[in-house]
Amino acid sequence: MSVLLKIQNLRTIINSPAGVVRAVDGVDLQIGRGEIVAVVGESGCGKSTMALSIMGLISSPDADVWADCLQLDGTELQTLSAEEKRRLRGRRISMVFQEPMSSLNPVLTVGEQVEEALLTHQRADKKTAGKKTIELLERVRIPSAAERLGDYPHQLSGGMQQRVMLAMALACEPDLLIADEPTTALDVTVQAQILQLLCELQNELGMAVLLITHDLGIVAEVANRVMVMYAGKLVEEAKVDSLFSRPLHPYTKGLLESRPELTGGQKRLHTISGAVADMWDLPTGCRFHPRCPQCMEHCQSQEPQVFVRGDATVRCWLYAQGVAP
Ligand code: SF4
Ligand code: MG
Repeated sequence: MSVLLKIQNLRTIINSPAGVVRAVDGVDLQIGRGEIVAVVGESGCGKSTMALSIMGLISSPDADVWADCLQLDGTELQTLSAEEKRRLRGRRISMVFQEPMSSLNPVLTVGEQVEEALLTHQRADKKTAGKKTIELLERVRIPSAAERLGDYPHQLSGGMQQRVMLAMALACEPDLLIADEPTTALDVTVQAQILQLLCELQNELGMAVLLITHDLGIVAEVANRVMVMYAGKLVEEAKVDSLFSRPLHPYTKGLLESRPELTGGQKRLHTISGAVADMWDLPTGCRFHPRCPQCMEHCQSQEPQVFVRGDATVRCWLYAQGVAP
């Protein structure tokens, strides 16, 4: 599988009045063409900030984003002009967010918004765009699509709104779709439908998907590979099967253990004992150490390195030579 997105040592630093936050701290990430990679972790661990950093959408003067390498299909994104970045976002990378209502324009109809996305990104003429708008809405399985063109966003259910967002994201036939908690705001049945749709579209279009979620149930269903993030760092990366059958990092194990029973439906993850790390006041050494049941003395002062175990990588001192279980 050829590499589509290659990121090395991504850092996003936010200078807030309350102090400096290393929201994304040295993340390496690679996505192959047509691959679905999930990034999982509790709220506030830097998942969304990472996505926005990749998209070049962090524009605050109080934030800095760097990477040793941030390449899409061999093109270094950091050296592109603002205009080139904007075009790339329209044509090759798209994003869908958790709250469709906050991304849709409430005063434009569904048809107008999808058509607008087509006119902007595909240089289509008005007539072709009109026809393609219906095709896109059909592609995201909106029933009687042609009859919904005149609907305003508030007339649609949450699930239908998210389908419209997907249609807009697909207008440019992206190589990479970044989906940030795309189903979190939806009820369980609709979540399952949207996920299934996402997988079908990924299959039909061959695009890669970076799926950001706090829900391991979703990861198990759709992802090929998983990256686990904790307090701005990647702590484990593995193929989905091995992550579920042989989790390595104590945090990953905690996430898996705190999963709601399947019979209870997909609920939010219960948090692991102890509080999520305070990004303004991070623990020394391993950031997970105050919550880690296997914490050793040196974990409190020494930042763990990344170790390789088969196909997986893990940032934890337990896997240093001689210590590994
Ligand atoms: Fe736990 Fe130490 Fe591993 Fe951190 S490095 S996860 S504290 S065992
Ligand atoms: Mg988020």
